[in-house]
Amino acid sequence: MNCQACVEFILRYLDGELPDDERAAFEVHLAKCPPCGRYLEQYRVTVTACKKAFVAPPEACDDVPEALIQAILASRRDV
Ligand SMILES: [Zn+2]
Repeated sequence: MNCQACVEFILRYLDGELPDDERAAFEVHLAKCPPCGRYLEQYRVTVTACKKAFVAPPEACDDVPEALIQAILASRRDV
């Protein structure tokens, strides 16, 4: 598991869609990689805010992730 794979897992992780083995690998990576842990927290907060802002339909969030990922990746460069 590297950071790129980790980023791609986050959305599925938050949706509870990761199989146990992949989730375990993801959590191992998070434990070793503080930037990804912060990324997950930011993502979780943003997705939660998005779901509150767009209560229905849930698909309203589908346009967001690419721009969101870029914004978060940009913010990570400051760390
Ligand atoms: Zn990482």
